[in-house]
Amino acid sequence: MPHRLTVVISQSRSQNPKKRQLEEQVVAGLLGERGIDVTVVPHLYDLKPDGSGMLCLSGISGDLVVCSWLYPRAARWILDRNQIRGQEGKTLLKSLGETDDDDEADEEAIDDLAEDKPRVADQRELPARRIYCLDLRAYDDASAFREEIVRIATELATPTIELNGWINGNPKPEQMERYLAAETAAPEPRQATVIEEEGGRRWYPVIDLSRCTNCLECIDFCLFGVYGIDARETILVEQPDNCRQGCPACSRVCPENAIIFPQHKTPTIAGSADVAGTLKIDLSQLFGAPDPGAPGAEKAMEVAARERDEQLLLAGRDAVGMQVGMPKRHESELSGSVAKDQLDELIDSLDELDF
Ligand code: SF4
Ligand code: SF4
Repeated sequence: MPHRLTVVISQSRSQNPKKRQLEEQVVAGLLGERGIDVTVVPHLYDLKPDGSGMLCLSGISGDLVVCSWLYPRAARWILDRNQIRGQEGKTLLKSLGETDDDDEADEEAIDDLAEDKPRVADQRELPARRIYCLDLRAYDDASAFREEIVRIATELATPTIELNGWINGNPKPEQMERYLAAETAAPEPRQATVIEEEGGRRWYPVIDLSRCTNCLECIDFCLFGVYGIDARETILVEQPDNCRQGCPACSRVCPENAIIFPQHKTPTIAGSADVAGTLKIDLSQLFGAPDPGAPGAEKAMEVAARERDEQLLLAGRDAVGMQVGMPKRHESELSGSVAKDQLDELIDSLDELDF
């Protein structure tokens, strides 16, 4: 049977005509492409686990390309929390704000992670199918997406062993049969499957399990019952809709930067490929943001506690400040030693660079 690839277009939350036009152009460019099915769903982050959108996506068992207005990392872990899993497909397209230099830095960060401590994702087996996540915010031109998706479809549909046979001028009869069947197959559908789902905008944390070490600090910190543990005592976002709209407090507490709020305006919280603690992030702090050691500047834990207190007060509860659910390791951060260590590491890294 010829290989089929499903392309999912996750629509923008807004009715912005430019965004709608890009979505429509991507869909139109793919209709009629051999071996490609197109499905349009509402915004991925807003889909309910038991809604028609996720049910439709769960029913797709083959390779998948998901185009969304989200960082690929955020899209991937939203799918994962809904049991839509597979091997990470590598795309040649950049995501929003990503540059060529980022690839090298990201690889170094991934290497650092690999050597580091066990991650929750290490214990799981993933199906062999591939999932590619493309960021619709990164290009204005629909042809960039069409070309990349056609490239992916071609790559996935090309069985290397069979190709070797062809190159040697020795196609087997069944190979020839399959080739002819594909060539004479019925025309491809000229319509996309469009799934509609009622429901408003949602706000909840998404955990990147490739970074999460299951330290459970987020459970201690959150006072709204969002987090829980599963039967294997592994962290999970148990009551996502308990999360307070617009608040990203626990993402600042997670020591691994594993908690993503895909709609937050800060790229590192929204799931950009940047990894906090790398030279890249420290440089932005040094040159672009207030010095964390400056008098009056809020440290991450203070910001998190303040944001949590705001939400407690809005919910009619008492503020707790830094007295509840603050991990021990932050005591040293508050005394300034962590910030100092990070600055020392940064200066060492800069010394190593040949400016
Ligand atoms: S704080 Fe971060 S690393 Fe720890 S369990 Fe929660 S998500 Fe995982
Ligand atoms: S943002 Fe606040 S309410 Fe939401 S999960 Fe984190 S700590 Fe809990």
